[in-house]
This record gives sequence, structure tokens and C-alpha cells, in this order.
Amino acid sequence: MNWFTVPIGNEYKKIEKSISNMVRIEDIEHLLDGDEINRLSQHGYSERVNIWGTANRDTKRNEWKWMKMKPGDKVLLFADNTYTFIGTVLFKTRNRDLGKAIWTEESGVFEFIYFLGDVERISMSCDDFNPVIGYTSAPRSFNMISKRRITNAESQYGSVEAAIRSITGKEVSEEAYSQIISEEVEDDVKYQREIEKATPNPPSEDVPKELHEVSTYHSRTGNYSRDAGEALRALIDGGFQCEVDPLHETFLNKTTMTHFVEAHHLVPLSQQKNYSYSVDVKANIIALCPNCHRKIHHARLVEKREMIEDLYKERKARLKNAGIMTSIEELLTYY
Ligand SMILES: [Zn+2]
Ligand SMILES: [Zn+2]
Repeated sequence: MNWFTVPIGNEYKKIEKSISNMVRIEDIEHLLDGDEINRLSQHGYSERVNIWGTANRDTKRNEWKWMKMKPGDKVLLFADNTYTFIGTVLFKTRNRDLGKAIWTEESGVFEFIYFLGDVERISMSCDDFNPVIGYTSAPRSFNMISKRRITNAESQYGSVEAAIRSITGKEVSEEAYSQIISEEVEDDVKYQREIEKATPNPPSEDVPKELHEVSTYHSRTGNYSRDAGEALRALIDGGFQCEVDPLHETFLNKTTMTHFVEAHHLVPLSQQKNYSYSVDVKANIIALCPNCHRKIHHARLVEKREMIEDLYKERKARLKNAGIMTSIEELLTYY
């Protein structure tokens, strides 16, 4: 398996089209051959997929690098001294028309294209990753990291991925992980308990709630305190049903004798800093069955993306009424 570094440079508009967002396969199907469509579905991509590519500039250098790329290779996209996305090459295709179709009005049409699977947003400073692969500065171009550097990294860290996980903290040690999980679960159990005992806030229209109306700010967690009465109002309004699918079966809560669902903030409270109005409002609080609630917190983005997109569609107008202006792209970065 080879590793490629890919500069985003001034291609950030292209990134938005095919990496931050996935490309709808339906829109490009007519430009793919049967084998390519089969490959996508074999990899489990039937609706949308991430795509990236490169173009020759003054030399054929990019084409040569691209020639070396094979399915299963890893790609690290970076901009401004930070690696921002990691993905796995599914397969590649030379297809100028496809490049034109995906990234339309941009100049420098990508002709040497690769389809990417399991694309994840990361935030890893080049300064942190350089020592892993023995670089002394950030890479400047589309490049394959040499086999020798990869072998060195593997002997030191087990695998390049393990090194990345430990830098980004996405897969921290087992011990630290169970600590995080137990803190989070504890905190959540406490919250759901508070909701059981709360008096619901009176029914009301969704309106922006000023932050100074919100009681206390906890500097340790960076969170505002949660209003359990507001969450209970959200659950009542939702009829105590899982909002992913009302047919999701739960059980009767012995304390309240209502169906057991949990309250979840679609825009997490930890993101309050990005919003000028309170996110602890019923417009932003959704009811989830325990399984969906665990899924939205712990599943890989590729597995939960559709669920988050659907919830966002359902709530978009209400969020707006509550003064919470967020896009689906932004929301997905919180997960
Ligand atoms: Zn939650
Ligand atoms: Zn559910």
C-alpha cells in the first residue's frame, strides 16, 4: 500500500464539490463504463461517492505520479500546513469529460481521476506528521511517500494509520478511549435522568434564544448548561418517537410510562461557540431511540451520514427559525 500526499492549494472549490460533498453517481453515470459502475457498487457506493484527481501543468509529473496509484492506496489531502482529509483509492480512471462534469467552471480540468472510499475529515498538522515519515517540511506537491519512509514509520508506529490515529486522537489508546466513552455515557445518562424529572417548558414557537438568557456557562467543558425542561418539551412535541424512524422499537420508561427515547442536540452543545443564538432549544433537540443515539455518536461518518442528512432536512427550517444558521456541510464536520 502506498501513501500519497495531495495539496489542495487553491482547489478548495473543487474540494467542496467532490470531497466535502459526495458526487451523486446518478449525475455522472453516463460518463462511466459498466465496469466502473460495478466497482462502485461492489464497494458499497450506490448513491454517492468521493472523487479526486489531478491535471498535468507544465510537465507530465502529475500524470506519472497518478500512474503509480493503485486501489487500496491511501491519500492524504492537505492545505495550509494541515492534512484535512484521508481516503482510500477505490480505482482510477483517465476521463477528461468526467473531470469537466464534476468540477464544471473550474480551470485546469482534472483528467487523471481517482474514486475514494472511506473519506474522513481529519485535522493533523504537517509539523506533527513530518517526523512520522521523516520529512523536514510540509510536502509541496502531489507526491508518493517513498517506500523507505513508510517502512521506517511502520517499524516505529506499527502502521502509518496508527501514527495518524494517535496524532489526531481519533483512535486513542484503549484505556483513554474507555475513559472518554464512560465520561460521555455518564454525562448523557445524567442528562436523560434530568429530563425524566423535569417540568416541560411550555409549548411555543421556535424563535431565536439569546445566549444571555441561558443560565450558566461551564468553562471546563466549554458548554452552556442544558435545560432539561426544553429537552422534555422537544420529546413531548415529537411524541416520544425516534425521529430517524418512528417505527424503531424501544420500551416503556418505567418512570414516565412513555416510550423510551433520548434527547440529542443536532448541533452539539460543544459547538455553541460558532453560533450567536442558543443551540439548547427544541428546534435543535431531536428524539432518538437508544440505538440511533449511539450510532450518531459512535458510528463512522460513512455509516451515519445519510441519517444526519435526513435529520438536517427535517430540521432545517426550524433551525433557521431559532436563529441557528448551519449548512449540512458544516453540520457533518461536527460528527
Ligand atoms: Zn447525543
Ligand atoms: Zn432510532
